Amino acid sequence: MDTSKLKTSTGFRYENAFENAIEKFPTLARISSAATFGIPGLALTKVDEGLCECMTPQGICVAGPYVLITAYCNINKYREELEKHATKGGNPSKLEAAKNHPQHKSVIYVVDKESLEHIATVALPDCTHGGGISYDGTFVWVAKDNERKMSAVLFSELERVIHYGFGTVRYLSTVNVKCQASFTITYGDRMWVGNTFSRTTGTMVGFRVKNVLGIPRLVRDGEIEMPVLAQGAMLADIGDKTYLAISVSGGRVNPSTVYRYEVDMSKVEKGKVLKLEDCKDLGTLQLPPMMEEITIDPETRAVYTQFESASSPYADVEGNPCKSIVDRVCVSSLEDWFPEV
Ligand SMILES: [Zn+2]
Repeated sequence: MDTSKLKTSTGFRYENAFENAIEKFPTLARISSAATFGIPGLALTKVDEGLCECMTPQGICVAGPYVLITAYCNINKYREELEKHATKGGNPSKLEAAKNHPQHKSVIYVVDKESLEHIATVALPDCTHGGGISYDGTFVWVAKDNERKMSAVLFSELERVIHYGFGTVRYLSTVNVKCQASFTITYGDRMWVGNTFSRTTGTMVGFRVKNVLGIPRLVRDGEIEMPVLAQGAMLADIGDKTYLAISVSGGRVNPSTVYRYEVDMSKVEKGKVLKLEDCKDLGTLQLPPMMEEITIDPETRAVYTQFESASSPYADVEGNPCKSIVDRVCVSSLEDWFPEV
């Protein structure tokens, strides 16, 4: 088979599932009120010279005119799921293909912010889980989870690869942040790193990014408490107040919960953890399972929400697929997240 013409897939992978998810979770309609677009590469991603059918999306951020989405080749999970159901019939040809599937490099899908069209798939130099991505105006940061590291890609280099259409970017620098690095956002003049866990509460650690002769240095400055299983967070202003939304998800069955607070950022100080009980609680929202990062575009104030449930290991398996699949990025206004303020 000639695979040279195959490209990263686009469009909606599970159109009907999304309609069902909206019926079950009315808030999903509200947080996708402005637009939705299919997460690229779910069915097929062209990475380096290979083709990957099990890329699992993780992080999302806006960088200049682009929406950036990280994903990793989740072949171990996919193979495990297919093997589990092989004895009950399963799908022998899919399992055979999965056994021969190599571990691909992780990627960044690049989507044009205006047209919402996929314009490039950029490979990262490694197979990081890439739980989050953020942009501080100079560097694009990839959160590397239990490696406890953040890697910086120079935005101008990423843009060169985007213009070329495909290719690999380098990490200009990789910093040991001494925390879990499960997701990342930027807010104000700090870059924030989710230091979160599946059994205990965590924090979101603030860092000042110092550009030292072109190389970023990170200086810790303040922490905000995070609930168990936090997968993403958003900090944003409405008027003169600051609001925090935290996405919490645990597995493919249980709904995701978004915790919402009004936060007094003047209480975020070096060497201290701001407790959530000291923030004004605005209640929770229920959304479909497997929610990942939430991000706000600082220019347009559009909010983008990402789910991982439409990736092959969770959707394209016979035994126990996610029951409420979201195959797209949901775009809304910030006010849709905080209608009461
Ligand atoms: Zn792969």
